[in-house]
Amino acid sequence: MAMVQTHKVDIGGLLAGSGQRILVDDVVALEPFEGLDFPRPASVHLEVRSADRWLEISGEVETEVHGECDACLDDVTREMRVDIDERIDPSVAREDDPFGEGNVVTGNRLDVADLVQQVLLSALPLGLRCKDDCAGMCGTCGTNFNTGGCSCIIGDDRG
Ligand SMILES: [Zn+2]
Ligand SMILES: [Zn+2]
Repeated sequence: MAMVQTHKVDIGGLLAGSGQRILVDDVVALEPFEGLDFPRPASVHLEVRSADRWLEISGEVETEVHGECDACLDDVTREMRVDIDERIDPSVAREDDPFGEGNVVTGNRLDVADLVQQVLLSALPLGLRCKDDCAGMCGTCGTNFNTGGCSCIIGDDRG
């Protein structure tokens, strides 16, 4: 597989109203984010169309996110798959909004890496969990309740 360095797609033809659509298959490495990291690059499949003055981007991004379980602090790696369904006005520069959709387009270039980063970051779970019914951990001794109990909770009558 060829490594793509820039992840920039020329959408000049679309913006000129050619009515074509562009299919994008790319692989994007992601920076760690607030204690979470991405063990493998995200695969992205996009279809970009123009509709009136809008740019319509649909498709999906798929990767894995790795970090600590919010409840038991165990190591967690989870699949992440996010649908993309964005409408962008390519003529509007949104300097007041650093995460605005408009920022993924500069001139005639769609920055796929930027788009993927934004889509994934906005879809990240607020607290990563090793499983939906994680039992958590003991705040006193650190025992992981998914694997067993501890003496701290046997008779929590602390008088
Ligand atoms: Zn957990
Ligand atoms: Zn304990």
